Amino acid sequence: MRRSSNQYIGRFAPSPSGDLHFGSLVSAVASYADARQHFGQWILRIDDIDQPRTKAGAAESIIHTLSAFGFKWNHSIQWQSERISQYEQVIQQLKDRNAVYFCACSRKEITKIAAAGADGMIYPGTCRDQRHSENARHAIRIRTNSEKIYFTDRVFGHFEQNLGNLSGDFIIRRADDITAYQLAVVVDDYIDQVTHVVRGADLLMSTCKQIYLGGLLGYPNLKFAHTPLVIDKSGKKLSKSDRAFPVNPDTPLTALIAAWRFLGQKDIAHRVQTVEEFWDEATTTWSIQKVPAGYP
Ligand code: GLU
Repeated sequence: MRRSSNQYIGRFAPSPSGDLHFGSLVSAVASYADARQHFGQWILRIDDIDQPRTKAGAAESIIHTLSAFGFKWNHSIQWQSERISQYEQVIQQLKDRNAVYFCACSRKEITKIAAAGADGMIYPGTCRDQRHSENARHAIRIRTNSEKIYFTDRVFGHFEQNLGNLSGDFIIRRADDITAYQLAVVVDDYIDQVTHVVRGADLLMSTCKQIYLGGLLGYPNLKFAHTPLVIDKSGKKLSKSDRAFPVNPDTPLTALIAAWRFLGQKDIAHRVQTVEEFWDEATTTWSIQKVPAGYP
């Protein structure tokens, strides 16, 4: 069931922590236009693994807004919450290979001992050789090393990280038993046979972790493109949980055109009157080379 080399499968994977905001719309537009231009498939996945952060009704609202904006996805919608047993199987594989260990450190303890890295605290490996048991409420960490992980982002160009120095061993299952995003997303993209990831630049710093996990699991490489972040007046990234700048499903064309401009694309506003016309023009004029590499 593996894909052929010229196949394109893209995806959009919002977390249902609030309504769709302008920042998520920008990455959805980029991801969809790129998939359509490549005659690819496009999958909608709801990243609802983090139940404590899930807001009732948000998934339905996001799906409704995406439909009103003319997005059409292939296959049925995928839900992370339905994949827990698949994540557990992968965690078991990693346990069998001794690639992971249980960690009993609390966040407070880590803050006390760890140095701050470019991407949060660098876990110093306190529990690496402690052989903590499975039963207690322990997080699971993956062992990292000091090898350089690198990739060529289609927007940002060459990007590399040394995970050992940047984050240390990172969590793949949290102490509250929830599969961590870093692992869930890698397994999801594998199950969905995704070939191209186009998403917001807030996840650029996570990509090497995901490439590392994918490599350990023997999954095929993905192509990545990270789109510029939309920030508010105070310089903060828009976040669904802040209820920041929701987009209005009643006026889709205005928001689509604003997202298109934000992505540095050729102006098509004067040529489109409807959402369908927007997508026809967008598909032929999309140019990933024009997307500005904007990371605050
Ligand atoms: N669910 C993540 C978010 O909404 C995106 C995951 C991804 O695109 O890899 O920020």
